[in-house]
Amino acid sequence: DRLNNDFQFIEVGRKDPKKRPLRHRKTRFIEINEAYKPQEAAEQSHRCLECGNPYCEWKCPVHNFIPNWLKLVAEGNIIEAAELSHQTNTLPEVCGRVCPQDRLCEGACTLNDEFGAVTIGSVEKYITDTAFAMGWRPDMSQVVPTGKRVAIIGAGPAGLGCADVLARAGVSPVVFDRNPEIGGLLTFGIPEFKLEKTVMSRRREVFAGMGIEFRLNTEVGKDVTIDQLLSEYDAVFMGMGTYTYMKGGFPGEDLPGVHDALDFLVANVNRNLGFEKSADDFVDMHGKRVVVLGGGDTAMDCNRTSIRQGASSVTCAYRRDAQNMPGSRKEVKNAKDEGVKFLFNRQPIAIVGDGKVEGVKVVETRLGAPDERGRRSPEPIPGSEQILPADAVIIAFGFRPSPAPWFAEVQVQTDDQGRVIAPEQAQYKFQTSNPKVFAGGDMVRGSDLVVTAIWEGRQAAEGILDYLEV
Ligand code: FAD
Ligand code: SF4
Repeated sequence: DRLNNDFQFIEVGRKDPKKRPLRHRKTRFIEINEAYKPQEAAEQSHRCLECGNPYCEWKCPVHNFIPNWLKLVAEGNIIEAAELSHQTNTLPEVCGRVCPQDRLCEGACTLNDEFGAVTIGSVEKYITDTAFAMGWRPDMSQVVPTGKRVAIIGAGPAGLGCADVLARAGVSPVVFDRNPEIGGLLTFGIPEFKLEKTVMSRRREVFAGMGIEFRLNTEVGKDVTIDQLLSEYDAVFMGMGTYTYMKGGFPGEDLPGVHDALDFLVANVNRNLGFEKSADDFVDMHGKRVVVLGGGDTAMDCNRTSIRQGASSVTCAYRRDAQNMPGSRKEVKNAKDEGVKFLFNRQPIAIVGDGKVEGVKVVETRLGAPDERGRRSPEPIPGSEQILPADAVIIAFGFRPSPAPWFAEVQVQTDDQGRVIAPEQAQYKFQTSNPKVFAGGDMVRGSDLVVTAIWEGRQAAEGILDYLEV
């Protein structure tokens, strides 16, 4: 009966999956959302209006066939939904977990304003998790091998997106990564409370089953040279991310007790995953007053990791207001629920302390006129300085490109900000200035999102297939 009801979206409201109780969330490194039950997933999927021109699909960077797979889930057809969902997305279960849906698919859902958007992200996650649990694996039986081989540098979402499309086209991808596990920032960045690490280890097994070869703990430029890859393979794809920390440029940044965001997060993951090389690498916030500087996803992850480590207080200072925060709304809310205190319109001007961190000097700001991207830049209010007491400070101002010294040796050009030049509009999509080398993800567009990195990796694979004439 339910499936025949066209007004399901009124009778059945938007219902997100249940969250684990706060007392568990605040102490454990486990995903905070529970899984939908089949009935809930079907009911929520059936809320979709099947709009003739689905805005959600356009707004989704990989242009998922959203209404189509929602319909399949409403009908209980999970395997077909998984097949369809994998036609456009390499890691649907990851995107369902970490995409900022409020700014992407769900923000564009027709029901968003009045009735509550369809829970697109949670259903996307449900489809793949359930299909895998049912034993489903991508069907490679029709793939005809071409005999071509492509080296992929980086097992992050860009590299994996590229490998997925190539493997399905009969080209053998060999993926090199300096880390001991695949995923890039999905494994060594994004914490477990957003994305449990078994999701990526399961994916590694699925990819291996599709014929994708991984050479982990292997750094290109050190353990293997780019010249070797260029001579041994038919083409090379680079998806190496961005890893230069942005600094605040104010006094006190070098004091003991001041940490770069990613170092802090990676040390925590390494301990949880058993990859820790030395106990000294771990940064322990237990019992400390922590101040996190920044307002993006990385800052939210540092806030919430500090809470779980048992910090006595966590304060997040951001120089704009809540509306202008770059972080995903759902994660800001999760951070607040878990006890993070937000101080908006506070710009750090110094980290103070005698031989170690004792506090952060901030000045209040008001928002000035919008810049060319429409973001309003903060202006300090004279005389409003205050010191936030702190035992530890985490700087989460984002990342700049980190071009390798060997790019120039193989004629791979970068722009004035250090991003590799690989235009989508090139004759072969995402080809660099070296015709045999393609690139995508954060190293081309600057730090962005998982889903945009997947898109560029997949598109670059199309470019490589055209280049190889297969
Ligand atoms: P990466 O994920 O950085 O992967 C690059 C890979 O290349 C790495 O594994 C690296 O080891 C490898 N590599 C680099 N150089 C070499 C070399 N010379 N040899 C071998 N291997 C090499 N995005 C979201 O959409 N949602 C979120 O919630 C979110 N949260 C985030 C939280 C944090 C803390 C951070 C830092 C980022 C977050 N992001 C989020 C952004 C997202 O993770 C990135 O945009 C995305 O991972 C970029 O993918 P990529 O494949 O381009 O690069
Ligand atoms: Fe939404 Fe991201 Fe999934 Fe696209 S990939 S449908 S934007 S959650």
